[in-house]
Amino acid sequence: MAIDEVTYYRAKCDVCKTVQDEYWGDFSALGGQQEVREWVSEDDHWAENSDGQFLCPECRGCEVCKAYPSYDDGFGHLVCEDHEDHFAPAPAAPSIVKLTPVR
Ligand SMILES: [Zn+2]
Ligand SMILES: [Zn+2]
Repeated sequence: MAIDEVTYYRAKCDVCKTVQDEYWGDFSALGGQQEVREWVSEDDHWAENSDGQFLCPECRGCEVCKAYPSYDDGFGHLVCEDHEDHFAPAPAAPSIVKLTPVR
């Protein structure tokens, strides 16, 4: 009989080192890193921040002030309501329009 060794992956919080050992209620680990990544992004409680760190519910506060709850600002950063514009690109400088009088 041959014993075949396989590797499974689990999300581990980069801050407190908590390991997630339940996925979609059915699995204790997943077969691929990409699946773990998908699980993290689908679940409301864990999050992946802009540095690619996985953060558990206890640690996934706003990247600026650590407040909770935080959510993705659309630019890949976790922010609270107060900081939702913190990482947003600066608005373009207003262009100066010169009006030429029409004669
Ligand atoms: Zn944590
Ligand atoms: Zn904040």
